[in-house]
Amino acid sequence: MLIAGNWKMNTNVAAATKLAADVVNRVGDQERVGVGVCPPSVSLLAVGSVLRGSSVRLGAQNMHHADHGAFTGEVAASMLRSVGCTYVILGHSERRQYFFETDEAVGAKVRQALSHNLVPIVCVGERLEERRGGSERSIVRGQLYGALEGATISVPDRLVVAYEPVWAIGTGETATPDQAQDMHAFIRELLASRFGPATAAGIQILYGGSMKAANARALLGQNDVDGGLIGGASLSGESFAAIVAAANDSQGA
Ligand code: PEP
Repeated sequence: MLIAGNWKMNTNVAAATKLAADVVNRVGDQERVGVGVCPPSVSLLAVGSVLRGSSVRLGAQNMHHADHGAFTGEVAASMLRSVGCTYVILGHSERRQYFFETDEAVGAKVRQALSHNLVPIVCVGERLEERRGGSERSIVRGQLYGALEGATISVPDRLVVAYEPVWAIGTGETATPDQAQDMHAFIRELLASRFGPATAAGIQILYGGSMKAANARALLGQNDVDGGLIGGASLSGESFAAIVAAANDSQGA
């Protein structure tokens, strides 16, 4: 199980370090459930020093695919490594929607992250009209294969996938546990056809989209749901820790 918080463009450095300290206080001494937080990039260094010595890992929300160079405003994989990142979220639907990231662009970032020993959290998910039109599987297949183009994964913990139906992100709407399980099982089949069943079995597939303490147990109790990518509910230490507790329970179940 992995519970990762995506803080998006929220918190300044002071608020981010305070939130990180709260998360460490609440869940930083347990190892049963993997926990990560992904603050805005200006706070990575400060949050990383708060997390040091705890079991909570640091992640970034985005990166550029090049090693370095004239890409004003961008951040490279090696820079994320230098501040202690384990994870980087790639292909989030907000990046696709507002910054026009294509599957090819996400694929280039994934290869770059892997080559720098960052674990990409690759986000895939359909929009509401796509689900209504019955094309959710082909959308997710295209996004996943695009993101993994040319990527080699031989050890499952080098990659995390997050299924985030766009219609559930920040809307208060959640996929039902059955809808989540169905798509997660499909994603695992796709991963198996790409990397083999043994590797696919170990790749963590997170659910994201308005997950909170009240619905976490049912979602995390599904066979192929290996954790959550949490937006809004990760901005409070209390609600984030409650989701980690739900993950702990469903792991013990
Ligand atoms: C997200 O954007 O990754 C997300 C899951 O957001 P929320 O939990 O707020 O729906």
